[in-house]
Order: sequence, then structure tokens, then C-alpha cells
Amino acid sequence: MELTGLNAYMVQVRELVDAKGFSSDEAQIWQMLALIHTEVSEAADAYKKGRSYDEVGTELADAIIRILHLCSALGVDIEALFQAKMAKNWQRPYRYNLVRGG
Ligand SMILES: [Mg+2]
Repeated sequence: MELTGLNAYMVQVRELVDAKGFSSDEAQIWQMLALIHTEVSEAADAYKKGRSYDEVGTELADAIIRILHLCSALGVDIEALFQAKMAKNWQRPYRYNLVRGG
């Protein structure tokens, strides 16, 4: 795994959570998923309450940090997966999978 892009940030996050004593054990995967959700909910709440976009963005940064922590626990090459998914999405048609809404 190359330590570039998202992988480099993943390593930084893992160093932080390890230094701060948080578990990255596989038994914590469900908890990590739930905590990602809480940060997205905090962003929605901040937006709903009319807080600044920087405050909303800070909650989204929390979500990114928690996602990268989870990726480190899973041992995935998130940079490669991200790049592959972006390439796949570029191949999709305009407004793909949109039946209602949007
Ligand atoms: Mg937060």
C-alpha cells in the first residue's frame, strides 16, 4: 500500500487514535460505524440550527477522521479504493440511479 493521498491521512489518524488510547480492535468495528453516523448527524444538526458552515465542516471533518480510523482498522487501501470508485462513477451516465428526488 502506497502512503499517498487518503492512505497518508489514514496513517496520521491512526497515529492520533493510538496515541490517545482509542481501540482499533476488530471488536470495535460496529462502534466505529456508529460513531461515523453520529458525526454526520452532528453536521446535520449544526446545519439545521443555522450554525456557520465552518462548524458544519468541522463535524464533517470529524466524520472523515472516523472513517479513516475505521479504514485503518479494516486494513484497506482506501486511496486505491477511492480512486477506483471515482473512475467507476465517471463511467456512469448523467444523473445515474435517479428515479425520484434529486
Ligand atoms: Mg463532532
